[in-house]
Amino acid sequence: MEEEKRLCLSDLTLEQLTDYLKSLGQPGFRAKQIFKWIHQKLVTDYTAMTDQPKALLEQLRQTTTIAAPTIRRRQQSKDGTIKYLLQLADGNCIETVLMRYHYGNTVCVSTQVGCAMGCRFCASTQAGRVRDLTPGEIAAEVYTAQKDTGERVSHIVLMGIGEPLHNFDNVMAFLEIISCPEGVNIGMRNISLSTCGLVPKIDELAKRHLQLTLSVSLHAPTNEVRSSMMPVNDAYPLEKLIPACRRYQKETGRRISFEYSMVRGVNDSPQMAQTLANLIRGMGAHVNLIPINPVDGSPYSATDDANVRRFQHQLEQLGVNATIRRRLGTDISAACGQLRREDAKESSERNLTE
Ligand code: SAH
Repeated sequence: MEEEKRLCLSDLTLEQLTDYLKSLGQPGFRAKQIFKWIHQKLVTDYTAMTDQPKALLEQLRQTTTIAAPTIRRRQQSKDGTIKYLLQLADGNCIETVLMRYHYGNTVCVSTQVGCAMGCRFCASTQAGRVRDLTPGEIAAEVYTAQKDTGERVSHIVLMGIGEPLHNFDNVMAFLEIISCPEGVNIGMRNISLSTCGLVPKIDELAKRHLQLTLSVSLHAPTNEVRSSMMPVNDAYPLEKLIPACRRYQKETGRRISFEYSMVRGVNDSPQMAQTLANLIRGMGAHVNLIPINPVDGSPYSATDDANVRRFQHQLEQLGVNATIRRRLGTDISAACGQLRREDAKESSERNLTE
């Protein structure tokens, strides 16, 4: 119990760490040094911080923690994608994926243990939401993948388990930490955040004027179909969502991208492409088409590749820019919508039987 209440230094932005160390009577430069140890040199052990006074390190060791998830399972796909099952300090397990692209390594991070949004095609939400991840826990997903591979991570997508805008404050702190020049310094332009469409939070995000890419999980151009796939559409239907996307673009000067997961017989007809084009034409937004990935217990099956290409072609003809997202890691269930949280108990049982 005591352990849990300790302050986790990994959760603090440089500014917050500076205030904290000042409150301990330490000079400001110590904060920068310690921040660098945690977020640039990626140490998880106080004794490694060799430029710090012993007494301070001892005090920190007794009263604080550093996020250090353990790798419970590591699976590598034939395409090079790696999926990690990471165990957090309280025993909860989440998944993180590292993908290799020609422009560099991308880490797909989870932002919550489970998800409360209930999308019918997504494995991450099937067992509900347990809790939010802290800023330091999200950052530690990136650091763990970086240390495990020994390779630099250049891009981040907030597209793992959880709804990032449903954990708004922690996600904002994470973005500040991960893009901080004293840390791993991953530029906002190399970060994408995906949301199922929480309208008030899209407006709140717009006010921050971040240079990240906002992806909105649209998946259908009518309320009837979208509500059948995503319960969130009942709270924020298209007539609220699309204007919020327009406001976001106007406020930030950044183009939105729409994710559209293609489900056979549900949202993949030529009529749907036409309705979609009518809905978003003129926004300059980009549509990312993703044949839906198989998820146990989901009633949906994927549109075949030829039809996806036809749909893309039709959108282009109608003046909407569309690309087909490459599927990585399907052989290890590491693709969109296939990540799951796990209880520590389940994962130790699995390890014993594997
Ligand atoms: N909660 C956020 C981010 C998580 S998922 C969101 O909803 O956007 C990242 C993307 O994968 C989302 O567009 C999500 O709708 C999509 N997705 C979920 N399950 C999927 C599946 N089985 N196949 C393809 N895409 C899926």
